Amino acid sequence: MNPFIELGLRHDIVNAINELGFEKPTPIQEQSIPVLLTGSNDFVGLAQTGTGKTAAFGLPLIELLDFEENHPQALVLCPTRELCLQIANDIKNFAKKMNNVNVVAVYGGASISDQLRQIRRGVQIVVATPGRMLDIINRNAIDFSQVKYVVLDEADEMLNMGFQEDIDSILSTTPEEKKTWLFSATMPSEVRRIAKRYMDNPFELTMGEKNTGNANIEHEYYVVRARDKYAAFKRIVDFNPEIFGIVFCRTKIETQEIAEALIKDGYNADSLHGDLSQQQRDKVMKRYRERSLQLLIATDVAARGIDVNDVTHVINYSLPDEIENYTHRSGRTARAGKTGVSIAIINSKELGKIRQIERVIGKKFIKAEIPTGFDVCEKQLFALVHKVHNVTVNEQQIEQYIPRIMDEFADLSKEEVIKRFASLEFNRFLDYYKNAPDLNAPADDFRRAEGQGGDRFNRDGMRSEYTRLFINLGSVDEFNRGDLLGYICNNSKISGRTVGKIDVKGVYSFFEVNNGDVDQVMNAFKEVEFKGRPVRIEISGEGTSSSRSGGGRREGGYQKREGGFNRERSYAGGGERREGGNRERSGNTGGGFRDFSGKRREDRPERKRRF
Ligand code: ADP
Ligand code: MG
Repeated sequence: MNPFIELGLRHDIVNAINELGFEKPTPIQEQSIPVLLTGSNDFVGLAQTGTGKTAAFGLPLIELLDFEENHPQALVLCPTRELCLQIANDIKNFAKKMNNVNVVAVYGGASISDQLRQIRRGVQIVVATPGRMLDIINRNAIDFSQVKYVVLDEADEMLNMGFQEDIDSILSTTPEEKKTWLFSATMPSEVRRIAKRYMDNPFELTMGEKNTGNANIEHEYYVVRARDKYAAFKRIVDFNPEIFGIVFCRTKIETQEIAEALIKDGYNADSLHGDLSQQQRDKVMKRYRERSLQLLIATDVAARGIDVNDVTHVINYSLPDEIENYTHRSGRTARAGKTGVSIAIINSKELGKIRQIERVIGKKFIKAEIPTGFDVCEKQLFALVHKVHNVTVNEQQIEQYIPRIMDEFADLSKEEVIKRFASLEFNRFLDYYKNAPDLNAPADDFRRAEGQGGDRFNRDGMRSEYTRLFINLGSVDEFNRGDLLGYICNNSKISGRTVGKIDVKGVYSFFEVNNGDVDQVMNAFKEVEFKGRPVRIEISGEGTSSSRSGGGRREGGYQKREGGFNRERSYAGGGERREGGNRERSGNTGGGFRDFSGKRREDRPERKRRF
């Protein structure tokens, strides 16, 4: 039997969600749906981001309501307009095989007369943001006297936004006997307060540990100097040619500035925040959902609860002020069982905050290094090579040109032709990133801060006891840092805790182990093969982490790095510009890879990045 039927849902709902691709319930759905279907409890459901909380309350709602009656029976309150539309839409989809289901989204910034008209026509489920809802109630335009269920989604955010009084007023128009359901990913004190205030002995369901983050997210942090932040951010983006990301800033202004800078630099980015008109917000969300935007720069509030498929990266351009918000931010990726990366770009003073977040999410961050210009070139080169390999050839259209093309290449060997195709773009990357400075904060800053941070796992004093090893596996073998860490530990039986910095490159990687573990690791891999290839481990000639900034192609230690800044200045004359204004934009105008037609960037219309 279909597992949703077993939970007690009727066929026309199950058929609809099967068409949406829901094959089996997520854990929160499995646990909450049977309880909610009894209709007899107040309810608190805590589950990680992206685990399907909307359906956990939406499905029981449409199962329980009487759609023969055309008056408000359920009210869903949520903090933002985007979320309001998303929830209303989800519920409509769940109910698409049922008749006479009327759902209306009530939110500010859009025409109130439209919403009033829809309400007058008759509605059973109202999904609303508190401000506009109260407005409509105050006009006596809606009757909540027969509401049976109230859902508070992301309730803590509503309180943060100062909606408490509005919520009180709204709920005072609903009957005493109604049931209140609350859903959230975290249980901060606000949620507890709400539960106390609005609920009567609620059934509490917590999936996984309280407040913990989604296990499918890999968390990374990069330590940079404040003035290098924007450049570092862009380099991370360039290092991920397929990125489809949400970038979080702390303020609306910062959001706007970063988005503007990115657009200027040839990226497909735009901002989402509360100062935009509703029309602008809708447009941005639509473009992002359609993937004509590659980067969405958002505030915490604007992006709370947003569900967009296959977000690859969440980037914390600034860390959130409230630790809980980190969970909500990172939860925009790795939704519905997928995986994703959450990145924090910090300065060395913020390490303590990373440790705090680690405690809250119950997971460790990996310290990552800002890729070198060379790394970026390599990554982009292979992205191009893969693209060439996988391109769909339009045989019919190209056929007529083939003889002439063959003619042109007649005197070149296959190797020559390939080399030239690859160089076509690679030269541009190289030009662009040559002399690109090291953007990682000097380890001195870092160490000092780690010392201050009171970090439990501080290995400070042990740093120089690490040995850096080379391994002939890398990102082309589909390893990321987490995978590689697991692979190394599984084979060599050393603890992940004792492994230092891991640096995954294209066809090889570096990792650090305690000096005492070197033999064990090297011996363990003597006979190991990966996909038929012998795995090779060598002691890297580049020294240990005690001289880590000097590693590899990041030539030179810190003295030299000062020189690096000079290089950077002159570099600014080429690929980089320092924009006026108060923001550090010392970075490479990296999106430029695709954008090197020689025209001035400013003149160029925003265009779709190919991916
Ligand atoms: P949450 O509110 O817990 O953060 P959402 O309700 O926004 O999560 O759901 C996250 C994503 O998972 C949505 O895209 C939704 O369509 C999808 N989803 C929900 N339930 C299921 C399911 N049972 N099977 C597959 N996908 C699901
Ligand atoms: Mg949600």
